Amino acid sequence: MSMFNTYIQNEQQQQLVDKAGRLADTMSKRVKQAEESADLPQANIDDLRAEHYLTLTLPKTYGGEALSLYDFLLVQERLAAGDAATALSVGWHLGIVKELAEEKLWDRSIFDWFAKQVAEKQVLVNRIASERATGSPTRGGVPETKAVRQGNHYLITGRKTFATMASVLDYYIVSAYVEDKDTVGSFLISSDLAGITIDKTWDTLGMRGTGSHDVVFDQVKVEADMLVELNKQANPRQAKGWLLHIPACYLGIAIAARNDAIAFAKSFQPNSLKTPISEVPHIQQKIGEIELKLLQARSFMYQVANQWDKRSPEQRQELGADLAAVKTIATNVANQVVDLAMRIVGGRGLSKAFRFEQYYRDVRAGLHNPPMDDMVIQLLAKRAISE
Ligand SMILES: Cc1cc2nc3c(=O)[nH]c(=O)nc-3n(C[C@H](O)[C@H](O)[C@H](O)COP(=O)(O)OP(=O)(O)OC[C@H]3O[C@@H](n4cnc5c(N)ncnc54)[C@H](O)[C@@H]3O)c2cc1C
Repeated sequence: MSMFNTYIQNEQQQQLVDKAGRLADTMSKRVKQAEESADLPQANIDDLRAEHYLTLTLPKTYGGEALSLYDFLLVQERLAAGDAATALSVGWHLGIVKELAEEKLWDRSIFDWFAKQVAEKQVLVNRIASERATGSPTRGGVPETKAVRQGNHYLITGRKTFATMASVLDYYIVSAYVEDKDTVGSFLISSDLAGITIDKTWDTLGMRGTGSHDVVFDQVKVEADMLVELNKQANPRQAKGWLLHIPACYLGIAIAARNDAIAFAKSFQPNSLKTPISEVPHIQQKIGEIELKLLQARSFMYQVANQWDKRSPEQRQELGADLAAVKTIATNVANQVVDLAMRIVGGRGLSKAFRFEQYYRDVRAGLHNPPMDDMVIQLLAKRAISE
């Protein structure tokens, strides 16, 4: 049985994972192109649309599939094993749609309109909140991007960094300091408005295919209704289950590295041995360690996701520290698993003829997605002390 099937519990999940598997196989063929261009291939978005992947988390009333968190992670993990950059990218879109539908963060009429855009046109959205000066938005820094009121509009000016899928997004959800309200808010901004440019700054070690360039807003005129969130209303400490698409993605990379390493170990027989290296004790030790680590990280992730799905919105809030712990454990385990896989393969793993060196680079990026390890450890310590 494939490792991807371990957490499948019913036929519907099997079909979803099969669909993700087909997409993963197709997209893995475009990874080289994405690596070179440091952009998300438009063909991947076209394929995701053709498979109605962009509406998976949309409520059923709008024609989506309203995936549970557990099911969302199953498909994302599978997709990531073929193309992690695309999985991380589309994971933001699906997660945001899920969050907006479940947390009801926006006015009903605006969400209704937007959900119809997702259903009918399969528009693609992402939150772009990071900036050079604030760094990770989870640290609470006030954005330097500014929104200045002008009649029924706002003029938005600023530069955002790490804008995943910048070149292919239909909508950005952009955080800004809203001058007339003296607080931070978020605007839903169509990517074709005048004054928006993409500065192709994304030239990174890993996750190159996410095309997370800078987006520059120069006096972009946005209708005042598009101020969709105000931080005064939002609770920054709110537990966010959908963010588990991040650990699912990095565990998908780890599983791909594990599968490739085992396949190599079973097929490679140096002329100094009478068996493939899979029979050698130190190789089995490493494979066993990989299994142990993946078992721990995945069972924890799926168990927390299951808890999330079963609980009421109020009870879900108690899971904040557990969600954060899943991310820290999964991303660190993913780094360790890829490292072990490369030790199994040996020097060949450095070659671009194999995927290992890419897994090694991609998995590293997980450390810099939210929440960051130091914040997670602090959160766990505070919870323990306050008990
Ligand atoms: C592949 C990838 C995709 C991404 N996609 C998106 C996206 O779609 N949208 C988006 O908005 N962002 C995105 N990001 C950005 C991400 O959320 C972070 O903003 C970014 O990685 C910078 O975080 P950082 O912790 O490395 O940097 P910084 O926050 O600048 O921190 C730099 C260093 O200073 C420390 N530090 C900073 N502030 C504090 C503090 N207050 N207390 C203690 N220590 C502090 C940090 O621990 C770190 O060591 C993406 C990042 C990656 C890697």
